[in-house]
Amino acid sequence: MKILIADDNPINLKLLKAILEGDGHEVVEAVDGEEALVKLEDPAIEAIISDILMPKIDGYRLCYEVRQDPRLQQIPFVFYTATYTSPADEKLCYELGADRYLRKPAPVRDLLNALSDAAAIARREPTAFRAPEDILREYSERLVSKLEEKNIELAQKSTELAEAHEQLCNLLAHSPAVIYSLDIQHVRPTVSLVSDNIERLLGVPLEAIDWDWWKEILHPDDRPTVLDGGYMGPNDGGRTLEYRIRHADGSYRWIEDSNRVVFGDDGLASKIVGVWMDITDRKRAEEELQQTLDKLEQRVKKRTMALDQTNEALQAAKEIADAANQSKSEFLSRMSHELRTPMNSVLGFGQLLEMTELDEFQKDSVDHIMKAGRHLLRLIDDVLEISRIEVGSFSISLEPVAVSAVLEEAASLLPLLAKEHEIQVELDHPVPYLVVADRQRLRQVLMNLISNAIKYNTPGGRVTVRVQPETESTIVIDVEDTGIGIPEAMIQRLFTPFDRLGATSTNVEGTGLGLTLSRSLVSAMGGTLTFTSQEDIGSCFSIHLNLVSQQPAPLEPKSPGGLNINSLEETKGRVLVIEDNAMNSKLLQRIFEEFPAIEVEFAADGRAGIEAARLNPPNAILLDLHLPDMHGQEVLTELKTFPSLAHIPVIIVTADSSQEHARILLQRGAFRYITKPYGLNELLSAVSEAIKKSESGL
Ligand code: ADP
Repeated sequence: MKILIADDNPINLKLLKAILEGDGHEVVEAVDGEEALVKLEDPAIEAIISDILMPKIDGYRLCYEVRQDPRLQQIPFVFYTATYTSPADEKLCYELGADRYLRKPAPVRDLLNALSDAAAIARREPTAFRAPEDILREYSERLVSKLEEKNIELAQKSTELAEAHEQLCNLLAHSPAVIYSLDIQHVRPTVSLVSDNIERLLGVPLEAIDWDWWKEILHPDDRPTVLDGGYMGPNDGGRTLEYRIRHADGSYRWIEDSNRVVFGDDGLASKIVGVWMDITDRKRAEEELQQTLDKLEQRVKKRTMALDQTNEALQAAKEIADAANQSKSEFLSRMSHELRTPMNSVLGFGQLLEMTELDEFQKDSVDHIMKAGRHLLRLIDDVLEISRIEVGSFSISLEPVAVSAVLEEAASLLPLLAKEHEIQVELDHPVPYLVVADRQRLRQVLMNLISNAIKYNTPGGRVTVRVQPETESTIVIDVEDTGIGIPEAMIQRLFTPFDRLGATSTNVEGTGLGLTLSRSLVSAMGGTLTFTSQEDIGSCFSIHLNLVSQQPAPLEPKSPGGLNINSLEETKGRVLVIEDNAMNSKLLQRIFEEFPAIEVEFAADGRAGIEAARLNPPNAILLDLHLPDMHGQEVLTELKTFPSLAHIPVIIVTADSSQEHARILLQRGAFRYITKPYGLNELLSAVSEAIKKSESGL
């Protein structure tokens, strides 16, 4: 069916159209009675649905005209209206010739039923059953009453609107947001709306606000971004920008401008609607925060620079200290060498003298020389050792060490001293503990403490060395004596290098370095050295060490007993001595004169030594390290390259007491490493073993 709908409300029109088209009908629209009459020229229109109140020609009139027109009077006419107030309206509609009267909103089915009912009515007569004047009077009355109703309704609506407007104005007046709208259809945009609060925010009267004013108050720095950056041009979607505008008081305020472009039905941008928010306070807070951050950053930078400088200074100081340590270390090694070389002659010739027939005075003198020599040697050793620990060039090899064995060994080297001082030494070590230590250093410490306990004792006194568990992981070795003790006032001075606490004026020998060295050595082994003492009653020095295991230590092989001088008497062979120091060569010459079966050849530098060995291979070579032309280590390496010489035992005889050098040279094939000043027995034993080894061809 083709249906005409007459309704001035476009939404109602749209809705009705959708309903009818959904039911398979064709729809023709008209926004008032006048248009409806024009559209009715179309003879295909089969039904009419009309509202009552419409501009120009209302629904009553439309119905009347349709029913008077012979061409149209058969078309079904349905009123669909919301303006119903009384049964009189409905009655008038029927009197005017309507077929159905429905109130909005009606269910879809009712509407469709009303239409089909109207269509079913067979034939309609013109509405002439009442005098047209009657109808017109009725019509006018109805219209007036309807208009009055409408008026009341409108008055109510406008009151509501006024209230809503006032509320909105109130809200806006107290809001930090200014609402604005710009018409942008023309080249020069015009301000179509700005909320009143702009006066409060920017101090300008509403009427002063227009496009030019706005362009003018933009901060010059922000103008390019806002105007030239296309920000205010038509654009899809919303956008937000922050910029500054000048307040009437001359100050600049930060504004957050969020706007959106509205497009007209023609698809062209017609308006920009947006909101301005005063964000000056927020910006200020941000700026202050930024300033604080900048200041902080500056301070951090300054601090970092200062730290870098301090680090550089520290690094430089460290480098200087390292260099100083290095030169100290070099100085020490040099001094050690320089002092040990003459000491070798003093003690060596002294030992030779001891072996000769001497009268009482000579013997006494040699005794003094030897005693002083040994004292000096001990002094050199201790000073060097302490210095090495200080500069960190001290090496210690920690391993499981059986305390009992080391203790026995240390004590066994002191019976003469104990006898001399009339002291009884007792060892109490029931359980063989294994501790973490450097065997040689532990023996050195024990010897020092036991010899002190003997030396600073009284004749008939006692020294007890006791080993006992301390904690689950440590043991303590107490060296206790019944000696003179240490006066309370002197306890502070203990462990001070060279401070002998008044012992210098006694006959007791010493250097004043033993305790200092002992404490450093024990701490290098991961332990501690403590003591208690009472004047005239005695002292107790305690070594606390970490335990490896409480299992009985395996029996350690006894160190091979040294050969005595006699052992070389039957030995035959050739010995090549490579030594540049004339005094030391002379000493060796004197020593070997005692053994006519040993033939000795001397070479004063490395090259001469190698040549001599090649010309006439010896049974053993005694090699000094500091030679004028090459280092002893190079000589050793070169000797090992000749097949005829590689098997010859090379004994290094040097004043260089560094354990590290000894380890390296032994690794490179040296047979023994003997430090000057050497004991005759030690030297001759090594030579004897070397000759035997070369003869056996091993
Ligand atoms: P040294 O024994 O060579 O003089 P030490 O460093 O071993 O040097 O000892 C420093 C000083 O401490 C000694 O000179 C001595 O006066 C005192 N001393 C050390 N051990 C004992 C002890 N067991 N009894 C009393 N005094 C001691």
